[in-house]
Amino acid sequence: MGTGRGQESEWEFGRRAWLARDQFLAPISSFHFRFSILELPFRLLTYASIYSMLVLGIESSCDETAAAIVADGAKILSSVVASQIPTHAKYGGVVPELASREHLRKIEPVVNEASQSARVGVRDIDGVAVTEGPGLVGSLLVGLVYGKALARALAKPLVGVNHLEGHIHAVLLENRMDRQAGKRVEEAQLPAVTLVVSGGHTSLFLFEEAHPPADSHPVLFSYKRLGRTRDDAAGEAFDKVAKLLALGYPGGPVIDQLARWGDAQAVDFGRIKMKGNPLDFSFSGLKTAVLYRVRGTPLACEAEQRRAWCQARENVPVDELRAQCSQATLDLIASFQNAVVRDLLERTLAAAEAARVDSIFVSGGVACNSLLRARCVEVSRAQGIRVLFPSPALCTDNAAMIAAAGYYKLKAGQLADVTLTAHASFPLGEKSEEQGLGVGG
Ligand code: ADP
Ligand code: MG
Repeated sequence: MGTGRGQESEWEFGRRAWLARDQFLAPISSFHFRFSILELPFRLLTYASIYSMLVLGIESSCDETAAAIVADGAKILSSVVASQIPTHAKYGGVVPELASREHLRKIEPVVNEASQSARVGVRDIDGVAVTEGPGLVGSLLVGLVYGKALARALAKPLVGVNHLEGHIHAVLLENRMDRQAGKRVEEAQLPAVTLVVSGGHTSLFLFEEAHPPADSHPVLFSYKRLGRTRDDAAGEAFDKVAKLLALGYPGGPVIDQLARWGDAQAVDFGRIKMKGNPLDFSFSGLKTAVLYRVRGTPLACEAEQRRAWCQARENVPVDELRAQCSQATLDLIASFQNAVVRDLLERTLAAAEAARVDSIFVSGGVACNSLLRARCVEVSRAQGIRVLFPSPALCTDNAAMIAAAGYYKLKAGQLADVTLTAHASFPLGEKSEEQGLGVGG
């Protein structure tokens, strides 16, 4: 795609036209405007007649190619995720080059499937939201360039979304859907302290509305970073420990299941100590502590035997894998998981206390962890703190969360232009110290 002056001005024209449309529509329901008589026959059969803004989300930051169509930031019409786990499993981690190639193969079928299963033609969408970072640049570029080209070809507005922002919005999106469906769930309230915990990230944010809600201006959000991991992310630690013990990839789900058979108090890993900001995380020491418990012991031989056993099989059921694990291995796994969960929970509660909020969101792949979820429910009951998680399908990488976060940017006119590009590192929110929250140390 070129970046000539003519093309830039077309983008600028499209941007201004979009903003003008929103201003014009503000006093009247956009539903009525869209529901024009000429369009009636075509729209009667589609969701486009019911919702005022349909956003196509595209996510390809790591090893999932995903596309979704979300209506009005509050209803998932389709969400398609093509996982690359089988491609990377034999390497015990994501291989960037292979990930980019898989994205190239999958992006078009995945977007088509999202459009078909939502019964929304791509021409009926109102905007495209793509993940612009952080992530693997080669992977990000596939989704980003595809989204950019689609937006350009269809003359639709485009927004770039931070992957972490997407994970945070997964909580709001599902909460709205549940409430609209009449489910008896607590309402998500802001400000909230948000723990984003996955294979690539472990960060705490203070998430709030940027200004009081009013009819006259769209909702905007602000994110203040309170803490983050200084080395490994929690999901990365799960994956590396699983690799060390030959338990398969990704490690989080399998450790989660096997840990139920182990004694979580068997190994005392102690508390993880942090110098400086007490809301930062560090999991590489814990991972090394597991290594020292294994190296040169019978657990190492057992892991090698298991590795050979696993290599001869595909998709080993967890019960069969458990039969290949000694009680000492199961105890080690359970103790490791317990140490990670305790650390995540303690720092998140400390952040909530420092920020003086009683609402906590937890999202990202590790938010699927059953012990973390159970502990959060206990804390919520005991301390009267509202803790919200998305369902597992919205915790791990997906495009519905990108469309949901993008919806607010589209409404606010925060549109991208042709210069939108991928960023391996793409910090969300300023440091809390700069904001004077007083949690640094
Ligand atoms: P990314 O890290 O690319 O943002 P995801 O948000 O999809 O990806 O998270 C994937 C990570 O979540 C992996 O590290 C995986 O091991 C971890 N994970 C998934 N399910 C669980 C679980 N039940 N317990 C702990 N970790 C989990
Ligand atoms: Mg993620």
